[in-house]
Amino acid sequence: MAVIIDGKAAAQSIKKKLADLTAGMTSKPGIAVLQVGENPASQSYVNSKEKDSQEAGFYSEIFRLSENTTQEALIKRVEDLNARKEINGILVQLPLPKHMDSDTVLNKINVLKDVDGFTYISAGRLMSGKPAFVACTPKGIMKLIEETKEKIEGKTAVVIGRSNIVGKPMAMLLLNANATVTICHSKTKNLKEVCASADILVAAIGRAKFVTADMVKSGAIVIDVGINRVDGKLVGDVDFENVKDKCSFITPVPGGVGPMTRAMLMQNTYEAYLLQNERAK
Ligand code: NAD
Repeated sequence: MAVIIDGKAAAQSIKKKLADLTAGMTSKPGIAVLQVGENPASQSYVNSKEKDSQEAGFYSEIFRLSENTTQEALIKRVEDLNARKEINGILVQLPLPKHMDSDTVLNKINVLKDVDGFTYISAGRLMSGKPAFVACTPKGIMKLIEETKEKIEGKTAVVIGRSNIVGKPMAMLLLNANATVTICHSKTKNLKEVCASADILVAAIGRAKFVTADMVKSGAIVIDVGINRVDGKLVGDVDFENVKDKCSFITPVPGGVGPMTRAMLMQNTYEAYLLQNERAK
């Protein structure tokens, strides 16, 4: 039976550390969250971000804009926030309504305030191995892997999924940590064999219990990013019940990657605050 990596506890300890750091500050790290429309999942994510900000002792502003907000109006909001000193991090909650182009909007965020790490500049810097704001989910996963105390260098890592927000930055982080990395996706032919070669397996697909025990190497570290709703319950991309007996470490769903992703947004906002204050000196 694998060790279950407790993402909830790790996230809690990061938020506590941030709260201790901010307690003595006269000015606080500030985050602005922009939500457009009333997507229920987005609403719940935005509410969590507000709660996390409070727990970390940050200043936060939440903008809930109507579904028919124009792209120009949203960009104007972003630009206003770019110019405001008390706002260190800006997050545009995705998905945006269909009449908007997410990339166009996201790339209006000042790179120093890009706490989600989704601008082309942040992504390019990560790819070039330069300091950058890194997308919260993969950044949090690296922390969870660190929790295992296992060395990443030289390990074989397989990432299933190639999205810009999870799969690709995840692969880059593992590569920067000197793992030998393979990215799999919906067109990968010998998926089972490739996955079964992985010392570190990250599943970011969006299909409930997709990764079965026969796809997992004995003793692997298995990270489950998936969030799937099955009969009203949250289920990951990994068949947890069967895989847990084969691997050495595994993240649960819920309570694994999700809470850590949230904590990393706070961590990035804190780092943005430090960076901006350093530059203002
Ligand atoms: P996405 O839909 O953008 O990408 C899914 C990826 O899975 C694609 O690259 C696709 O090629 C791959 N894929 C699909 N079917 C496949 C198959 N049969 N075999 C191999 N690969 C296949 O999704 P995403 O935004 O990267 O998110 C992935 C999952 O992670 C979703 O369940 C999402 O809800 C979850 N997620 C969780 C968090 C968190 O904080 N826990 C954050 C982001 C995303």
